[in-house]
Amino acid sequence: MTINTIIDREILAEVAAEAISKAADAPRDAKRWVNAIAKAVVEIENNPFMTWQSVSKSLLILSERTGNIYTANGVCQCEAYSKGFPCYHRAAARLVTRYLERIH
Ligand SMILES: [Zn+2]
Repeated sequence: MTINTIIDREILAEVAAEAISKAADAPRDAKRWVNAIAKAVVEIENNPFMTWQSVSKSLLILSERTGNIYTANGVCQCEAYSKGFPCYHRAAARLVTRYLERIH
């Protein structure tokens, strides 16, 4: 199911605020994680090509900018991930996981 059409933005904002405060205390890449989370929120709310896959507990994301498709949970296939950096795909997967835990 496409996420942006069903997401409750208030709950997402709460989950994101918690994630940002945790990320700000991260031992490394704190600023990159905070930025990744902020971008993830925008994508979750607006990207019509983002689908949660409940069996694999991963987020399928079509990047409209690059045309690439990513399957994110703890890992990702993007360039940032391959260089060891935070990416919004993983941030989005984490946010959606927390969101689903919150509403269920
Ligand atoms: Zn990624």
